[in-house]
Amino acid sequence: MSVLEIRDLHVTVETDAGTTPILNGLSLVIRTGETHAIMGPNGSGKSTLAYTIAGHPKYTVQSGSITLDGEDVLAMTVDERARAGLFLAMQYPVEIPGVTVTNFLRTAKTAVDGEAPAIRTWSKDVKQAMKNLRMDPKFAQRNVNEGFSGGEKKRHEILQLELLQPKIAVLDETDSGLDVDALKIVSEGVNRAKEASDLGVLLITHYTRILRYIKPDYVHVLVKGRVAEEGGPELADRLEEEGYDRYLEGESESA
Ligand code: ADP
Ligand code: MG
Ligand code: MG
Repeated sequence: MSVLEIRDLHVTVETDAGTTPILNGLSLVIRTGETHAIMGPNGSGKSTLAYTIAGHPKYTVQSGSITLDGEDVLAMTVDERARAGLFLAMQYPVEIPGVTVTNFLRTAKTAVDGEAPAIRTWSKDVKQAMKNLRMDPKFAQRNVNEGFSGGEKKRHEILQLELLQPKIAVLDETDSGLDVDALKIVSEGVNRAKEASDLGVLLITHYTRILRYIKPDYVHVLVKGRVAEEGGPELADRLEEEGYDRYLEGESESA
């Protein structure tokens, strides 16, 4: 079993207005085998949390800690975090001109495992994983995310998840922009990854829709950079009905 522990995390970003606090004392504990949904209104810091776990240089940790099995994640490079078993599916996956999906996956797998995957089984695994996600085999020779539709980008993120087999996966709005068929396919991919290994999932979402397909064990509501409420799956049902207004009461319109 592995455990990702986030303790009293304070994160800022540099903007024109100066150093802006985004995460203000966030704490979370995720064990392998568990699925945690992080929900919250737009701008509450969900993507900032994802990027901070992954090691994006734009986000500065002012205080607090992130550890994986007691190891200091914040002291690790981005590559080291991936090798340690952390994975991020981005809300807005980026294009990588000149790099095909095939080469990208192979390079990523080699970096994560510390050795190149066995050629025979690897190409079979890639083909099968693409088939499971109903991806056209032609995709393998396209440049990463170049001209991909929103749904194709999200499938490509889950393809990576299935092939890289991390310990803890952070999925940032993997549901956004998907029609119901694509949402099912992507959710099935996540559930397969959960079954194949003892994956821990941090499922970041604005909407409860995806939670019909990927069942959370815990739900955390993120508001203004901290956890405002926590509960089980029933909390997601309540959010579905009530929205986030109750957490934002007493605020000015401009906030
Ligand atoms: P969420 O994913 O919950 O919608 P984000 O983490 O993307 O929220 O953003 C939280 C807040 O931080 C927002 O007010 C956003 O404008 C600000 N923010 C996030 N990243 C940056 C950045 N790179 N530069 C400036 N502001 C940012
Ligand atoms: Mg957002
Ligand atoms: Mg976001």
